[in-house]
Amino acid sequence: SKVPTITLNNDVAMPQLGFGVWQVPDDEAERAVGTALEAGYRSIDTAAAYENERGTGRALASSGIARDELFVTTKLWNSDQGYDSTLRAFDASLDKLGLDHVDLYLIHWPLPSRDEYVDTYKAFEKIYADGRAKAIGVSNFLPEHLERLLGETSVVPALNQIELHPQLQQSESRAAHARRGIATEAWSPLGQGKGLLDVPTIVAIARKHDRTPAQVVLRWHLQLGNVVIPKSVTPSRIRENLDVFGFELDDEDLTAIAALDEGKRLGPDPATFDVV
Ligand code: NAD
Repeated sequence: SKVPTITLNNDVAMPQLGFGVWQVPDDEAERAVGTALEAGYRSIDTAAAYENERGTGRALASSGIARDELFVTTKLWNSDQGYDSTLRAFDASLDKLGLDHVDLYLIHWPLPSRDEYVDTYKAFEKIYADGRAKAIGVSNFLPEHLERLLGETSVVPALNQIELHPQLQQSESRAAHARRGIATEAWSPLGQGKGLLDVPTIVAIARKHDRTPAQVVLRWHLQLGNVVIPKSVTPSRIRENLDVFGFELDDEDLTAIAALDEGKRLGPDPATFDVV
């Protein structure tokens, strides 16, 4: 595949660009993931909470692609935090996916008010030791949550998946991850397709390179070193979002995009989000 990989802190290789399936209903996930695999994606990002692990698993099975060429990520939902409940929830996810291991398992949200992410992560360490997740990590963790985890557990998370796009550039988190050898993965990398893709700076850079605004934004992520998981259910866009390896943004483009940061969150604030 033409997608480069990044090497996680335990030497596992992960495609730098994957396919996200949030808000794709289970019965559509099979077709969407199938289209993505056919287009050349090999990394799929799902979650127990997305309720499409079955459809995703069906697409993986029917693709005929060897398991060791696929990279499958799923996530533990908030209501399942805690040591024993995590082990049960992981079994349920594997069963729905129809797999005997995942490549990456993530704690979906820290829920600091519930204060169970350390115990939850200890169950992740057990799953990792048993070889049922090739890598473990977190999502939506603030630097303070990572520090606590590093102090109280032994496996350094391979990756933190956070909301990140040109209007929320997350420089503090990215620096904290880099210091600790934790990869940064961007969720809603296209800003959910709302607004960001119409920003004049992005549109102008797209014209200059004869590319689309979505391709410019994805290229920005890749050049920053982020892992990205754009989502689309439209076959032409699924292919467009993968076709980002034949051009490069220059320093002038990168400087212009750097100026778009406005700390604009589209999703919840991890410090207070506590929905189970
Ligand atoms: P995204 O930034 O990937 O945007 C997706 C939307 O952008 C699409 O629904 C479509 O409307 C539009 N779009 C996609 N490709 C386009 C193109 N080429 N041209 C124009 N418009 C286009 O948003 P997302 O789905 O929120 O995020 C991607 C993935 O990140 C999710 O599917 C999920 O896997 C993950 N995610 C994780 C969390 C978390 O808490 N860990 C939260 C949200 C999303």
